[in-house]
Amino acid sequence: MEKPITIEPAEMDDLVEWLGQFGEQTGGGIIRHVYDDAWSAARRALMGVMSEAGLEVREDAVGNLFGRIAGESQRTVLTGSHIDTVVLGGRYDGALGVLSALAALRALKPLGKPRRSVEMVALCEEEDSRFHANFWGTRGILGKISESELTDLVDDRGVTIGEAMHRAGFPPEKLRDAKRDDLDAFVELHIEQGRILFDEHRPLGVVDTITGLYRFRVTLEGRTDHAGTTPMDLRRDALQAAAEISAEMTRIVAEAGRPAVVTNGWWDVQPGAWNIVPGLVHFSVDLRHPVEATKQRLASEIRRRGEEIAARRGIGISYEVVGDILPMDMDSSLKRELQAAAEARGVTWIPMISGAGHDSQVMATGVPTAMLFVPSVDGRSHSAAEYTSPEDAARGATVLAEALRRLAY
Ligand SMILES: [Zn+2]
Repeated sequence: MEKPITIEPAEMDDLVEWLGQFGEQTGGGIIRHVYDDAWSAARRALMGVMSEAGLEVREDAVGNLFGRIAGESQRTVLTGSHIDTVVLGGRYDGALGVLSALAALRALKPLGKPRRSVEMVALCEEEDSRFHANFWGTRGILGKISESELTDLVDDRGVTIGEAMHRAGFPPEKLRDAKRDDLDAFVELHIEQGRILFDEHRPLGVVDTITGLYRFRVTLEGRTDHAGTTPMDLRRDALQAAAEISAEMTRIVAEAGRPAVVTNGWWDVQPGAWNIVPGLVHFSVDLRHPVEATKQRLASEIRRRGEEIAARRGIGISYEVVGDILPMDMDSSLKRELQAAAEARGVTWIPMISGAGHDSQVMATGVPTAMLFVPSVDGRSHSAAEYTSPEDAARGATVLAEALRRLAY
């Protein structure tokens, strides 16, 4: 057996620093959105480094970037993550999965021709930050982008995603060419974006399930009245109803215990004046649970309680469901490979639930998929404060390389 592959912390540190320059803002934080200049520059630079490493570099019709070590078989083991960021994001979300894949393939290249082909990918879009295009790159690979999205998805400057593709050098009419049928496996390394690994002092998580998501908008209709002349007992204050409903759903979900979570992160209060009783309120509900039956039970319970509270207060209530995403289990045999790779390299791991959405949940609908998590210091993510130590990043990349060696060589 060959000498085991070890990726050094200094290599990961250099890579993170290097990619983090693309789209970095003067006040800190990165803006690297699909098809924008920083995104294009990052991909060009990455292409150079991938070529230098001896990988066969190719981009597809939607802008996913691939680097391949051709094997005896055309069947392919793919690894990577997304290269786009949220607005003022950090250096690690998505990027660390791309850079770990690069480090792993660089280390595997000298081993010669693998049995199956091994490929890394920088997926073009995951974050939904410029267009509401969630998982655009992964959906391109699976052939799950619909033609109408090219004109329906518009950024806040009025540019359609089709136009943005065209300007970045990807003719939108070739969209369908991105679809692949040669993938045997997809492995994504990602930062946890939460604080479980950090708090428990564990270096690695192997994801069992990516959580399910249920999103709806609540509308409460009361009556606007004069804030000075309307006695408290005669008001139909939509905001007071909303506040009680929000507190009640928070209580119900907290009582269900971890990993159930609910968030009311967006509010719209009308007419929004100091001296008027609020007559109309909209707010968002983002409910997540990795067990579909529990997710649905919690959803119907909080909806029912909302209706009761509104009725008691004489307030009209309606719901608009905007998303209902099933939890996604990771492939069990791939998970075992990741666990075996971690054990072979002496890296302790724990099973985890992902509370965040990832490309892997979409990829898993068409390709056997599994995920590795590395710690996020203080659980910080989607901010410039995002940090994973070079030691943890290197441990993760080493396990990834070991897993790819087992899967492809
Ligand atoms: Zn991400």
